[in-house]
Amino acid sequence: MHGTKTLEEADRLMTVCNSCRYCEGLCAVFPAMEMRRSFSDGDLNYLANLCHACGACYSDCQFSPPHEYNVNVPRTFAIARAESWSAYTWPRAFAGVFARNGVAVSVIAALSVAAFIIGFAAFNDRAALFATHTGPGAFYALMPHNAMVLLLGGAFLYAMVALAMGVRAFWRDIGEPIGMVADQGSLWQAMRDAAGLRYLDGGGVGCVNEDERPSDRRKIYHHLTFYGFLLCFASTSSATLYHYLLGRAAPYPWWDLPVVLGTIGGIGLLIGPAGLLVEKYKRDPALVDQKRTGMDVAFLLMLFLASLTGMVLLVLRDTGAMGPLLALHLGVIFALFITMPYGKFVHGIYRYVALVRYARERRQAGHIGG
Ligand code: SF4
Ligand code: SF4
Repeated sequence: MHGTKTLEEADRLMTVCNSCRYCEGLCAVFPAMEMRRSFSDGDLNYLANLCHACGACYSDCQFSPPHEYNVNVPRTFAIARAESWSAYTWPRAFAGVFARNGVAVSVIAALSVAAFIIGFAAFNDRAALFATHTGPGAFYALMPHNAMVLLLGGAFLYAMVALAMGVRAFWRDIGEPIGMVADQGSLWQAMRDAAGLRYLDGGGVGCVNEDERPSDRRKIYHHLTFYGFLLCFASTSSATLYHYLLGRAAPYPWWDLPVVLGTIGGIGLLIGPAGLLVEKYKRDPALVDQKRTGMDVAFLLMLFLASLTGMVLLVLRDTGAMGPLLALHLGVIFALFITMPYGKFVHGIYRYVALVRYARERRQAGHIGG
């Protein structure tokens, strides 16, 4: 007996797959499944989060619909994943945000942008808001640096705490003791698997999307998004070091490290999410959890808008449009941070944790090196 209908179905599928084993070379899910004879709720949530949604096991399966066995691992796991994220939510009161994520993110983003624009208008007179501010400290003529750090740093810190609490719940659910720190080898192996999206390649041929011809497009767009995000994070981190260690205030010249990192990352964050959105609409509906399309779209749009507003601000920062553009950009970033623990962003965190467990299991079983 399982906790939800989705987990009942996942159990049925894993029992069929465990007898068949045709897909064992496709990804990490099937070897992890083969280490078990029965599946607890935690095991199924672990396998669901280990799945990279490449779709290969659906197109390769001789028991997929219209066969009476009705085997559809990618979609069942997509639903199970989203339900598990909701179950791990901290604080619990926000668990429902996952079910209405598209609407929730749109409302929060609109309110956040409005609040920053109203705040900028309230604390600056009209002439200052539309004036041209240039040189070091130009941004802080409109919003004090400390206020920026307090609001955005506070939102980011809150997101990190909420995500850490979610990971704690996941770790406990999949049967790992709280307080157990995974060995360095498993952490490193999982990092390499995640960094290369090792299991988003359908066993080497590519990801199945709109038809049965596999391709690497989703993987490439995902890489652009992931590394674009990391570079933008590195840009903000280096700007923080410039400010506090070197006493140099933003904005920085075009050739300086924070701007170079932010520009390259920003381009990745424009192309990657746009490409993933296009691929999403081309995907075979049989493979996806259609009820949660809004959550995926909301997250990709937020990343795209964060980059777009940042890039436009970079280009127009020496003009009178800088004030309104800065308010718009900060509003989008604040909304992105505050909604991060309650939307698609969490898939990367839980998948990494699942990869750590998989690496640990492999090492314990003697398959050192994954
Ligand atoms: S998905 Fe289908 S082909 Fe693959 S292991 Fe399961 S039952 Fe077998
Ligand atoms: S969809 Fe891809 S990653 Fe997920 S179980 Fe099937 S083959 Fe593995």
